[in-house]
Amino acid sequence: MAAPNGTPSNSLVDIEKPPSSIFLNNEFVQGQGDVLPLFNPKDGKKIPVEVRAATEEDVDKAVRNAREAFETGPWSKWTGEQRMKALTKLADLVDENGPAIAYLESLCSGRPLSMLLGEIPRVSSTFRYYAGWADKLKGDSYPAEDGFYKIVRKEPLGVCCGITAWNASLMFCSWKSGPALATGNTVIMKPSEKSFLGTLAIASLVQAAGFPPGVFQVLVGDGKVGSLLSSHMDIDKISFTGSTATGKRIQDAATKSNLKRVTLELGGKSPALVFDDADLDKALFWVTLGITVNTGQVCAATSRLFVQKSIADAFLEKVKASLGAMSQALGGDPQDTATHYGPVVDAQQFQKVTDFINEGKKRTKVLTGGQEYQKEGYYIAPTVFLDPEPDEKIWREEIFGPVLCVKTFETEEEAIQLANDTQYGLSSAIFTSDIARALRLASSVRTGTVNVNCNLMVGNQAPMGGFRSSGVGRELGEYGLAQYTETKTIWIR
Ligand code: NAD
Repeated sequence: MAAPNGTPSNSLVDIEKPPSSIFLNNEFVQGQGDVLPLFNPKDGKKIPVEVRAATEEDVDKAVRNAREAFETGPWSKWTGEQRMKALTKLADLVDENGPAIAYLESLCSGRPLSMLLGEIPRVSSTFRYYAGWADKLKGDSYPAEDGFYKIVRKEPLGVCCGITAWNASLMFCSWKSGPALATGNTVIMKPSEKSFLGTLAIASLVQAAGFPPGVFQVLVGDGKVGSLLSSHMDIDKISFTGSTATGKRIQDAATKSNLKRVTLELGGKSPALVFDDADLDKALFWVTLGITVNTGQVCAATSRLFVQKSIADAFLEKVKASLGAMSQALGGDPQDTATHYGPVVDAQQFQKVTDFINEGKKRTKVLTGGQEYQKEGYYIAPTVFLDPEPDEKIWREEIFGPVLCVKTFETEEEAIQLANDTQYGLSSAIFTSDIARALRLASSVRTGTVNVNCNLMVGNQAPMGGFRSSGVGRELGEYGLAQYTETKTIWIR
């Protein structure tokens, strides 16, 4: 494996010998389960690392370590300032080791290295953002006018666990472990079995950042490990990012076990609405980005496009030209920084998306794409369907690939009705030059995020999460922080 440009010679992450085991008590130890095969999605070839999944025994060990660190270990006595310093150091180490972390994540996920190198500063900035909170946590108090002085404290939950999807594992790691650690919890991360090398690479920085053993651990494995964690009696919180189906299972397991707290960041079928008064070139940029970035494997991907009838022909011609050009350039090596559009994550995802496309083609007209890629690797051309019927799977279900469904509308009311015609409610994008209309629509569209004249926006300060089947709770910002504390009231006579 060749080091990407910019890898410092003293990198703590060795891409020749990537961390290939689970991370417990600040040490890498081999899991006792089956080997988890990893394939490079650009050619389907095996990646030469042998990683064994965690077993129930490994899970119990991790939880015991985390509990001990939380209750009696040095961590339990750390001040906010100490937590701030360690999180800041972790952020610095992520930056310093960024090229190697990005490279390892690109290998197993197929995500373009160019994109992952851009994501590293976002990961470190989330750690830094939450480091800033660690020594600023405070509570409330109420006067003793009734003879009782009331103190309200925010206390850490205890042992928290992050279970994540493959499509942005590094960011999810910082979104979950950042606020968990800032508030004094211990954390166990369980990245997707499809893509975990980057999260393990971050684990290899934890000791150098100064965290005591048991504070930040990583378990690898598939849904079986996730299910052991979500039904564990000594875990206080699961923060999950993944599909709605798995999210429901996790919530159910949490309820049936110890009623652990649950945050769910789930799927979407997000709408983009383009009005005739929009800047169409800018709208085109954001709309095409919204379905092709990360090869459409984005929870907030705008996979349903609604265009006002008066401009539909002209706008869709532009969409066709733009996405058609991308189809001609499939097959770029994701580990080459010149590549911006990669394959989907694995054979299973390739089959799933291809099945959606083939089924869609039976009933619905294709504007562009739809053809199968004939060479090696899990590449899929951006595919646009025109006016699918309301009962079609391509219209109703999350595809999690570069597949866009288009309809036209005449009035604002019609646009709102179409946008809300889904079980999901993660994100939406509205393109118009009329600010009054933008605000009207932002109130009527039922999504956790509304982007006006932009798309897929996410940042440290502002919360993100879903309405309806897109999730429960919020991540990022102060709202995300609040999901990692319990509120305690003390009455003093
Ligand atoms: P997935 O639900 O199949 O898997 C996600 C994680 O859950 C993996 O780590 C997996 O091992 C684990 N898991 C599987 N079964 C489990 C079980 N029974 N109990 C506990 N854990 C289990 O999702 P995926 O296919 O990896 O990711 C794609 C999905 O994630 C899409 O639906 C996408 O929209 C969603 N997603 C949401 C967000 C968001 O922030 N809302 C972000 C990214 C992805």
